[in-house]
This record gives sequence, C-alpha cells and structure tokens, in this order.
Amino acid sequence: MLEIKDKKDCTSCFACYNICPKNAIVMKEDEEGFKYPKIDKNKCINCGLCEKVCPIINRKSEIRKNYERPKIIAAWSKDNNIRLDSTSGGVFSEIAKKIYNEGGYVCGAIYNKEWLVEHYISKDIKDLERLRSSKYLQSDMQDNFRQIKKLLETNNKVLICGSPCQISGLYNFLNKDYENLYTLDFICRGMNSPKIFKGYIQALERKYKSEVINIKFKHKIHGWHNFSTKIDFKNGKTYIGGRYEDSYMIGYLKYNAFMRPSCYDCKFKELPRKSDITLADFWGIEKINPKLDQNKGTSMILINSNKGEKLFEAIKEELSFEEIKSERVFKENVCMKESVKETEERKKVFDNIDKFTYDQLSKKYFPEPSNFKKIQIKIMNSKLVNSIKNTLRPIYRRIKGDKE
Ligand SMILES: Cc1cc2nc3c(=O)[nH]c(=O)nc-3n(C[C@H](O)[C@H](O)[C@H](O)COP(=O)(O)OP(=O)(O)OC[C@H]3O[C@@H](n4cnc5c(N)ncnc54)[C@H](O)[C@@H]3O)c2cc1C
Repeated sequence: MLEIKDKKDCTSCFACYNICPKNAIVMKEDEEGFKYPKIDKNKCINCGLCEKVCPIINRKSEIRKNYERPKIIAAWSKDNNIRLDSTSGGVFSEIAKKIYNEGGYVCGAIYNKEWLVEHYISKDIKDLERLRSSKYLQSDMQDNFRQIKKLLETNNKVLICGSPCQISGLYNFLNKDYENLYTLDFICRGMNSPKIFKGYIQALERKYKSEVINIKFKHKIHGWHNFSTKIDFKNGKTYIGGRYEDSYMIGYLKYNAFMRPSCYDCKFKELPRKSDITLADFWGIEKINPKLDQNKGTSMILINSNKGEKLFEAIKEELSFEEIKSERVFKENVCMKESVKETEERKKVFDNIDKFTYDQLSKKYFPEPSNFKKIQIKIMNSKLVNSIKNTLRPIYRRIKGDKE
C-alpha cells in the first residue's frame, strides 16, 4: 500500500488515484494547499497497483525508447494572434489544432470556476483558447488518465500536454505506449500552491472591488522578455503587473517561495525525456541567433521520439522554425536540468500561511522591490538599453573569441 513518508516523494500526478480498482484513494489537500493520496484502508485490497504506477517509486523506462539527445528547434506559430496569445511561440496550439482537425481529443490545463487549475479533455477546437497558456500553479489531473485510456482503446487520437511528472505518471498508468497517443510536456520550474494562488486572487479582488473574469500569465503587452501578469475584472478594470513587480511572480521566480516540496528535488529532468515533444520558452535565443527573437515569443521544441518527429513534420508548415545545434541552449535554460533551491522564505511562508493574509505574507517574505529599484529595473529592460545590449553582444563575443 502506498504510503507517502516524505512529501518530496509525491508529485500529485494522480496515477495511483486513477489505477485503484476499488476507488480507495482520495487526493486530499494538506495545509500548504497541495494534494496527496490518502488510502481508505477499509476499501483497500492490498493489490499494490498504487505503488507500481508511482513514477517516483517506479521509473518504468522500458515503456518508451526516446532519444538520448533530443533534436532542438526554435519555432513560433505563423499565426500572429496565436503567437501573441501563447506563453512562448504558440507551438502547443498548432499541435492541438492538428489533433482537433483529425477528429482527436486534446487534454490540457484550464482554469475552473474557482480560478483553480485542472486538466480537461476536449474534442472541440473552441476550447483551445482556455487550454492555451501556462497556468503557474498545480493542476488537478482528476480521473483523466482513465478517460484517456478508454479513448485510446476505442481508437481515438489523444494529445495531452502536462508537466513532466504528470506525463510519467500517465505512461506508468497505461503501462504501455499507444500509437494514437501523443504527449507534450514542458521544461518546468515547479508547481505553486493552489492555496497561495487563491490568496493572491482574493487579494486582487479585494483591491479592485470586483470579481476576476480572466487571468493571463506571461502576457506580452510589454513584450515576451518583459512579460506581465494581466488580470481582468468584471467592473471593467484591469491589473497589469510586470515580471519584476507582480508579487506572485516575484514569489515564484525570485524567492521560490511556494512550490510543491517534490519540485525542489525534481526527478523528471532526466534525458531521455518521457514525452514525444518537450516545449519551453527559448530563453537566450537572442544570444544564439538574434534573428529568431522578435520579442513576441519563441518556443523551444525538443523532439524526443519518432512519434514527436512525425508530429513536428505534420505541423511544420504552420511554423517559422530553425534547428539549433548550439550547446548553449542547456546553459540558458537552467530548469531543464536543475531543480530550483528550497529557500528559507518558503519555510516562513508555509509556517505562517494560516496566520497571515496573502498580502502580509508577500510583504514579509517575498516583497516587491522598492520604487527606486523598480525604476532601475524598468530602465535596464527598456527597448533602448536592450537594443544597445544586442548591438554590443556580437562585438563582445568576437573579442572573447566565442564561436557559437
Ligand atoms: C508551471 C509551469 C512552469 C514552467 N516552467 C518553465 C521554465 O522554467 N522554463 C521554460 O522554458 N518553460 C517553462 N514552462 C513552459 C512555458 O511556460 C510554456 O508552457 C511552453 O513554452 C509552451 O508554450 P506554448 O506557447 O507552446 O504553449 P501554451 O499555449 O503556453 O500552452 C501550454 C500548455 O501547457 C499546459 N499547462 C499549462 N499550465 C499547466 C499546469 N499548471 N500544469 C500542467 N500543464 C499545464 C496546458 O496543457 C497548456 O495547454 C513552464 C510551464 C508551466 C505550466
């Protein structure tokens, strides 16, 4: 019987919940707002399936024979609306469109009515807008693995996009690969607490005296590099917080202040990767090839399998793209290989989560920069300074003798 002794050993992939033949597992939220399996001993028949499917306990690397070294491509959707509405270059949407047009199903993360995130299976291309975009909190997989298995066994095409641990959990649950299954994951910094996110949203609703009607992380109103969080309210007002101003992004990116324990020791950053294709922001592309960066979002595509290669071939007409051979890629995107560090601030946030409001937690443990610092940041990220940096970078590299 599965027993989580150390919280680092559970990613909440939901494989155990989905496999249990007696529905003896509930996913119960802890005081930090993360879900863990809890087994009803009266229902459990000790079949051991929950342990067998756990991707932390069982790597099951024989299920997939993926490339040790993925092919790396820089790309973006030729459809400017899709590109601008997506987190990076909109490659997820182009792949999803292809699957929808072939009559298949797409499973991805959406916001629910409470502005929490869950995975949802869709057959209607009208859902694409809701599926699109990164939601920076943990998504609830619910019983989607069971539904996906049913769809696969009745010969439907299924595309799923999820975190690397969710995709590993899915393959463990299925216990084999299916020709009609296509999997996408992403380079993942880590999953934030839904409880903290709820506090953030409620604080903004209080401040704006209105209900939230739309949330977009990494909005490109000030460009992809200078991404913003954009939140619309029922009363017509809009909040826009730049990446260095928005408290939630500061807590996530600067202080690693509210991620799931397992994310600080992620076991899913290995090569070969489990999915057919891995997506990411192509951070650093301006240093590799400035022509591939228009500050509108460039996706990194890692092709991990034959099936991933075929999927890319099938959509490449919809993309502007270039294969990248440079090893610099691995240096620029640290989350590809390394987990982020667990911080003192994280401990303080969760020690006090029920004592303080979100705003108080933020002020004490993941504070916004001072106004002076904000101005400095704005100048350093302004168009003028960036264009000077871009002009000087090739000269500097030539002096250094850097050939990449
Ligand atoms: C929590 C999180 C952390 C990330 N960390 C990094 C990072 O450190 N470095 C990096 O380069 N890229 C990271 N990414 C990936 C990046 O933000 C983009 O998702 C990726 O580049 C794909 O962009 P796109 O424009 O093709 O697709 P998008 O339109 O952005 O679609 C992304 C798809 O990802 C899935 N998704 C969104 N939110 C979640 C979620 N909470 N849980 C599971 N699946 C979800 C959905 O199915 C969605 O449809 C992260 C994404 C998430 C969700």
